[in-house]
Amino acid sequence: MNLEKSLELFIKGQKHLVGAVNSPVRAYKSVGGVPLFIQKAKGSKIIDVDRNRYIDLVLSYGPMILGHRDKRVEKSILKALKNGYTFGATSKGELKIAKMVCDSFPGMDKVRFVNSGTEAVLSALRLARAFTNKDKIIKFSGCYHGHSDALLVAAGSGLVTLSIPGSKGVPTDAIKNTLIAEYNNIESVKNQINKYEDIAAVIIEPIAGNMGVVLPNKEFISELRKITKEKGILLILDEVMTGYRSKFGGAQELLGIEADITCLGKVIGGGFPVGAYGARNEIMETVAPLGDMYQAGTLSGNPIAMACGIATLKELKKQDPYDKFNEVAEKIEIFLLEAAKENNIDLQVNRFGSMMSPFFSSEDIVDFKSAQTSDTEKFKTFFWNMIDNGVFLPPSQFEAWFLSTVISKKDLKNIEKAIKTSMKAVADKHNS
Ligand SMILES: *Cc1c(COP(=O)(O)O)cnc(C)c1O
Repeated sequence: MNLEKSLELFIKGQKHLVGAVNSPVRAYKSVGGVPLFIQKAKGSKIIDVDRNRYIDLVLSYGPMILGHRDKRVEKSILKALKNGYTFGATSKGELKIAKMVCDSFPGMDKVRFVNSGTEAVLSALRLARAFTNKDKIIKFSGCYHGHSDALLVAAGSGLVTLSIPGSKGVPTDAIKNTLIAEYNNIESVKNQINKYEDIAAVIIEPIAGNMGVVLPNKEFISELRKITKEKGILLILDEVMTGYRSKFGGAQELLGIEADITCLGKVIGGGFPVGAYGARNEIMETVAPLGDMYQAGTLSGNPIAMACGIATLKELKKQDPYDKFNEVAEKIEIFLLEAAKENNIDLQVNRFGSMMSPFFSSEDIVDFKSAQTSDTEKFKTFFWNMIDNGVFLPPSQFEAWFLSTVISKKDLKNIEKAIKTSMKAVADKHNS
């Protein structure tokens, strides 16, 4: 694979960008080598600056669920663009997408739009604290909720990959109210709840995607809903990754639970910077201007971003691709497991709808600790061979692969071929 121009830009980029990137995972530290610089993308494909074409299973870490530059979405964006870029006043599109979002989450009467998943979650926490008049929150190891101070503890992929145990610059005071529990372990939640009085909220990725994909067991999640309700603790479901991806109504619809506060991002903006948090009226009335919890944003509800979000959600609703996603993911799972078996490689595949992760491990992956049994050296070999064979994957064992609605039969064949070759390369290098 010729990555000459990517290398050139990677070196040049070091001068005025930090590590030549604007988000650390893009620097490929955990897989080494030259990060791809992208020229453009269309449909299921992404093309780098050296003109290599790849089937895109990163999809900008989730948002591009319809593939790149869907015609109908592009048309809506261009139409909005002609009316102006931002007004500092509410425009009609915001009302429209607010209704669409509230209609898809039964527990949501009102919603507030922001500019990123990070912002959605940090606002949701403030809201939970304001509403309950309590300070403490419980989060789970391996779950990532954006980079706000209070949540940068035991926070999954970006940090595991970089081996940073949290982050420098986060004052102890900022995390003193953050309690940690273990995913799929209800006792660890009960222990915290029994120890502390003033818990405002439990926050969780209802299907975890930031330690690789990890599914909640049914009992754990329904028990979690039950105890939080009993104790007057708000349950915040961070559906920034899963909202509109697992199902139109997010993981909640599939798991049959209802959040007190739901956080959204990624797919909801269709590729533009959008986040949102919403809840029933009683809770949302705490937010200014109705209540005393302050949260604002110059570009929040940006008309172009809203137009892109509306068009994306509309198309998703119409296509209802969720069964098809399962079929495609199952096929890819079979390719992976068969190739692993053929080459005597230990592999676990976790998947849910259009999110999936193969783990190079012999253990079931059910939480952060088991995820870390994965052999990241094998992943590294696998990753670069997939790139060589035209499949663009997230550059970390602990990130989810994403599917789009436009993956073709031919793409699937090519994915199968790439997996076969790459798994063999892993065996050749690592099986002794
Ligand atoms: C991506 C992600 C975030 C952060 O969203 P940004 O838009 O990157 O700030 C928060 N929570 C979850 C579950 C995510 O996957």
